[in-house]
Amino acid sequence: MTTNPGQFLADACHALAEHLRFHEALGVRELPLQRTHLAGPAAALARLEAEIDGCTRCKLARGRTTIVFGSGHPGARLVLIGEGPGEEEDRQGKPFVGRAGQLLTKMLESVGITRDEVYICNIVKCRPPGNRNPEPDEIGACAPFLQGQLGAIRPGVICALGTFAAQHLLRTKEPIGRLRGQLHTWGGAVIVPTFHPAFLLRNPGPTYKRLAWDDLKLIRREYDRVRGRSPSPSPEA
Ligand code: URA
Repeated sequence: MTTNPGQFLADACHALAEHLRFHEALGVRELPLQRTHLAGPAAALARLEAEIDGCTRCKLARGRTTIVFGSGHPGARLVLIGEGPGEEEDRQGKPFVGRAGQLLTKMLESVGITRDEVYICNIVKCRPPGNRNPEPDEIGACAPFLQGQLGAIRPGVICALGTFAAQHLLRTKEPIGRLRGQLHTWGGAVIVPTFHPAFLLRNPGPTYKRLAWDDLKLIRREYDRVRGRSPSPSPEA
């Protein structure tokens, strides 16, 4: 931390501008003046999680077992966002712990990233019945929580897992095949869309595997960049 008051003020203004850009990208137009973010990301996340407890803001509340808020490192520079909890997640209360989650863990590990160092959550926090897509009113009801999570963590890199998360975050109808493979600037962060691991399980051939591998290398590169690290040695293809 600098002891130069001018530099301190410049850093603070820069951090505030980043914070506002983040919220602007999330579609937030007004910010209440609260002290929660001053308490740090862990406290802000804990407060949000307490706020969502027992939530009945949308109809998904009726069919869920557990609210799957999100899990991982509050100071993560990389956040991964899926669609909504599946059956196993609903049972355990944690995101991506079923078959798709196991594949996600392996995908991250293939580029030297552990689940402990990232944060993982979903667009909606309760399981849609039969794993259907979340509906607009459900997404709207949950949006303040996703906004709060991203506003608290302020990651440098966001990986949108699958069509649904990518289209929602980027506010587009473009298919994932067109969105993936490139960086999308978003507030002070970049979004890297890639295939949902459940899609990769359903389509196990080499084509999608190779494309997902390219995306993972891009995620790794951006992750290194935002942490000010020189790129890690290129993982074997
Ligand atoms: N699929 C998702 O989109 N999210 C989960 O948490 C699990 C499966």
